[in-house]
Amino acid sequence: MKSLVLEPDLSLNIREIDVCEQLGPRDVRIKLHTVGICGSDVHYCMHGRIGPFVVTEPMVLGHEAAGVIVEVGALVEHLKAGDRVCMEPGIPDANSRASRLGKYNLDPRVRFWATPPVHGVLRPEVVHPASYTFKLPDSVSFAEGAMVEPLAVGMHAVAKARVKPGDKAVVLGAGPIGLVTALATLAGGCSEVMIADLIEPKLALAATLGAITPVNVGHQNLSDVVREKTDGWGADVVFECSGSTQAAACLFDVLCPGGTAVYVGMPVEPVVMDIVAAQVKEARIETVFRYAHVYDRALSLMEAGRIDVKPLITDTFRFSDSVDAFEFAKQMPATSVKVQIQMPV
Ligand code: ZN
Repeated sequence: MKSLVLEPDLSLNIREIDVCEQLGPRDVRIKLHTVGICGSDVHYCMHGRIGPFVVTEPMVLGHEAAGVIVEVGALVEHLKAGDRVCMEPGIPDANSRASRLGKYNLDPRVRFWATPPVHGVLRPEVVHPASYTFKLPDSVSFAEGAMVEPLAVGMHAVAKARVKPGDKAVVLGAGPIGLVTALATLAGGCSEVMIADLIEPKLALAATLGAITPVNVGHQNLSDVVREKTDGWGADVVFECSGSTQAAACLFDVLCPGGTAVYVGMPVEPVVMDIVAAQVKEARIETVFRYAHVYDRALSLMEAGRIDVKPLITDTFRFSDSVDAFEFAKQMPATSVKVQIQMPV
């Protein structure tokens, strides 16, 4: 299979690689159509590791994917050949304690695409469990289908925040995850979102996506903006999506008494946090790791027109140019959000 392979020396090659996969009775075989490039793919290319996961063998990249079913296992009932689908990239052990508790994203043995030693899907075909494969509504394109993966992170964050109708939210960071979190926040019932970043084109894009107030923290004071927008009370929910240690450390400033802080971004270094700043507001603190039980809900919101991810898809490359696509993604211009790769038809 001609695939995009990250070698242990961190070079990238389009080359043949043997990925042997058997179609089980509850699996489907999918011909890939569109695969998004995630920050984690780029991170593996540049550093060869994320936390304990180290690239020691050649690995196919890519986990944000949509495609067409070409074959179904004998026991699969809800999908058939020809269905357009997107896929959850993490496959938990169904019998694990975490899975039995409904927290399958936290199963320590989850196998997640493009996380060593598991291959990703920048390749012609993949075999995947039918229960982690979701039919795309007719109105949802493959490109949008491949956006469900990052969107799922934002939706999971909003679910963990227990957003109530009319809440006002702050999102720190206007990268892909910050933007999908802002979209999910509005779909979840927030009346207003303030999104903070330093990069003007990202904020300008955010401002076009709905009831989103951009705040350029390079020359605006976020606390002042939040105070003004909330009658001095503070935001009901603050989502940390920047991964910046500084942002993670001081987000309680803008939170209302009794509000909720959700940590979505993953700072590379440990964060020193002012616990008393959280205590004096009795802040509830939530964290998210990927997502669970979100894909069908995300697709429903897309179908209903309540979430539109199309403006976030800024750059599309052909598979034959996928090495260039990764070079582009490593030094992405400020005007770009999501880079996607289209597989050969
Ligand atoms: Zn991703």
